Amino acid sequence: MELIYKSTRGQEGVTASQAILKGLADDGGLYVPTHIPALDVPVEKLAQMTYQEVAYEVMKLYLTDFTEEELKNCINKAYDSKFDAQEIAPMVYADGAYYLELFHGATIAFKDMALSILPHLMTTSAKKNYVDHEIVILTATSGDTGKAAMAGFADVEGTKIIVFYPKDGVSPVQEKQMVTQKGKNTFVVGIHGNFDDAQTGVKKMFGDKALAQLLDKNGYQFSSANSINIGRLVPQIVYYVYAYAMLVHNEEIKNGEKINVVVPTGNFGNILAAYYAKNMGLPIDRLICASNENKVLYDFFTTGIYDRNRDFILTSSPSMDILISSNLERLIYKIAGDDPNVNASLMSALSGEGKYVITPEMRESLRDFYGNYASEEETAATIHDLYEDTGYVIDTHTAVASAVYKKYVDDTSDTKKTVIASTASPFKFARSVMTAIDKKYESMDDFDLIDELSNISGVPVPKAVEELRTAPVLHTTQCDVDEMEATVKKWLNIQE
Ligand SMILES: *Cc1c(COP(=O)(O)O)cnc(C)c1O
Repeated sequence: MELIYKSTRGQEGVTASQAILKGLADDGGLYVPTHIPALDVPVEKLAQMTYQEVAYEVMKLYLTDFTEEELKNCINKAYDSKFDAQEIAPMVYADGAYYLELFHGATIAFKDMALSILPHLMTTSAKKNYVDHEIVILTATSGDTGKAAMAGFADVEGTKIIVFYPKDGVSPVQEKQMVTQKGKNTFVVGIHGNFDDAQTGVKKMFGDKALAQLLDKNGYQFSSANSINIGRLVPQIVYYVYAYAMLVHNEEIKNGEKINVVVPTGNFGNILAAYYAKNMGLPIDRLICASNENKVLYDFFTTGIYDRNRDFILTSSPSMDILISSNLERLIYKIAGDDPNVNASLMSALSGEGKYVITPEMRESLRDFYGNYASEEETAATIHDLYEDTGYVIDTHTAVASAVYKKYVDDTSDTKKTVIASTASPFKFARSVMTAIDKKYESMDDFDLIDELSNISGVPVPKAVEELRTAPVLHTTQCDVDEMEATVKKWLNIQE
């Protein structure tokens, strides 16, 4: 049976390349494969492969309308010297767990794993579907995703990318990262408003039929790089398979031995990829879902009730400060027995009352998952203690996962070997990390902290951070919230 994609809300049948181009289905659902394919290469073989080779073996099973040449071409363009580790995703053992470092790409966080390949998947998809328009990626960002998307799309032929960020709503380092972005096809705009304003403005443009026609007339079409795109989910499955193969290769585990996986979770994309890997036959036992104080998912796994009606808490792991985990819809659909009607009614309750309740049968199917959360104090203590005990420094997001892993072991006494997804370099969150290690760092400025972090960890300052010190500002455009559309038209030089 050929694998294609259908919507979690019922709409039928598109190819992988069409799903990548569209992002979201027309009925508002997320694209899911008609079945989860089984790995068809034995682990002994995978254990001898490079990251790029494993990527091909995994992704070919999902991107069924890509030729071998097309897919290998995308993989080789994505996973190259932009990464500062030859393994692409190296693994470090510390204090009873294997940290899978997913932060060796251009913006030193895990979003690079998918966003470095998405532009190539998208331009290839466009060619396959005879789209001759230039693709314009439109993004609102609260800091990190916009930068990772720009780094991925910069100078990729046939694409342009426009990022809106709240002018006074991101950290100084995040702002510097964005306004120094290179690439003739990138455009960064600071808006006079908050992230929600940016997001709403972008959504409005996506939904505007007249604007779409105008773009069409001028040879453009909008697309989105957000984390519900199947072109972001599929590349994330790769590193779980690679991690398992590496453990076998290094004789840390026997082939077939089950492992656990811990994932610091926000939008539920990363852990869903681990779930897909498990369902492909990879010997993963529990999927441990780690939340920060925005613990909607912990409550969901413990009660079967998803309830976003609560205060939004700003934490030291901002990329996990999320109350609606969009990718959870793909899991809900699956545990509803692939029933789009059940899923659609739960999602409509979520957008209406901000809440839904799953049935006891659906809860039964969640046994693969374990959810817990870490408070701000526990997160800081975890960074501190791991550094004191081993010298290894982790970032705040990874620390949430590490703290939750300890709770899991206390709760279950499960001693299976465990991989923790390490989603950001500590250099990206140097202030929170360093003050967790020692309060004396509170008074230091940002770049001194970075040097000191390098000193105490013995890890060289990553290129992405080093370059920021001297990088010239290339983007100075600002606009009011009601000028977003006009700003886009002006930059694209669109004629009415
Ligand atoms: C995006 C992000 C996460 C959350 O990943 P999801 O796929 O949204 O669950 C965790 N850590 C970091 C550093 C991130 O950037």
